[in-house]
Amino acid sequence: MKEARQAALTALHALDKEPLGFYPTPLHRLAKLSEMTGVEIWIKREDFSGVSLFGGNKIRKLEYLLAQAKREGCDTVFTYGATQSNHAMQTAVAARRCGMTPVLWLGAIVEPKAEDIRANLLLDTILGAEIHILTSIGSTKETMAANKPLFAARIAELEAEGHKIFDVPIGGSLPRGAAGFAECWIELMQQCEDAGFTPDTVFCGTGSGGTLAGLAAGKTMSMDTGVALQAFTVGKKDLATYGAGVRDLARAVIVLTGRSYALADDAFAIGDVSGPGYEKPHKEANDDIRLLARTEGLFADSVYSGKAFHGMMDMIRSGAVKRGSRVVFLHTGGATALFSEAEIVGDLAAPSFVHH
Ligand SMILES: *Cc1c(COP(=O)(O)O)cnc(C)c1O
Repeated sequence: MKEARQAALTALHALDKEPLGFYPTPLHRLAKLSEMTGVEIWIKREDFSGVSLFGGNKIRKLEYLLAQAKREGCDTVFTYGATQSNHAMQTAVAARRCGMTPVLWLGAIVEPKAEDIRANLLLDTILGAEIHILTSIGSTKETMAANKPLFAARIAELEAEGHKIFDVPIGGSLPRGAAGFAECWIELMQQCEDAGFTPDTVFCGTGSGGTLAGLAAGKTMSMDTGVALQAFTVGKKDLATYGAGVRDLARAVIVLTGRSYALADDAFAIGDVSGPGYEKPHKEANDDIRLLARTEGLFADSVYSGKAFHGMMDMIRSGAVKRGSRVVFLHTGGATALFSEAEIVGDLAAPSFVHH
């Protein structure tokens, strides 16, 4: 392993971590899509993180976050998200693995139907998480900000009963959580090297920003300046402000590991693939979800990975990604959303069968 990469990995491994997933996640080539586009497309399977079929990118973050919770003697984990949050579900899974009780505060961007509980909310229910549904007043962030007194009251009750609460913010995007994706970057670059290539660009979706920030930190610490990192936001955002926040988080990851690299101006770029908005189906992204399934037999979802995949495919089709180049798409998971409400999956669920 090259020296800078080894040094970055050593610094990351000085942080305590609770093993939760199955790593390294696979990296493989998409032969049909590569042939079709003239771009060599590889995919890194963070959707295969484990610990069950329903893994995803939050597991790497939770390995670092819940190690801290354990060290601090916490027995209860609070987290926040939309009712169909992958992050909330994966946090509930990780909490159970660590012997802790998950408490979920979920904003109803899409109102769940009591008689037809689906997808992540169904898994949260099976996991026996303490589930609180909050009427949505806009973005999940806004809904959570408005309900702070409710969280404080529940914390006071639980503490009075002798419980100790560990708080995981939306997406787990603290420096400790994002550190998991600095590690992912190093893992990916090593896999590419072992497969005999250096990617021109790594693509991923971005929401709370921890995945992107961690990747950017890993890229900086291992001095992989020649590899572009292109993210796509799945929620409407002011990209300048959002990008500045991701940069701050990436710097905080570097500081956390005791290193002092400056983040390059072009450490990453962000495009917008949110379409009609978070958890709202995007017509062209759904076309690319069908394309991925019908060429490679792989599933991406309509909230995150499908929109991000669409962002990459658009750059390939427009020529922004040159023919002959090599790219990696980071599949961050989220397939459970394919089984969520019709409002979320949109025309993916349009009936297409012959009934006899
Ligand atoms: C949370 C999530 C993302 C975004 O990751 P962040 O670290 O929150 O930016 C991308 N894809 C899926 C499937 C997710 O669940």
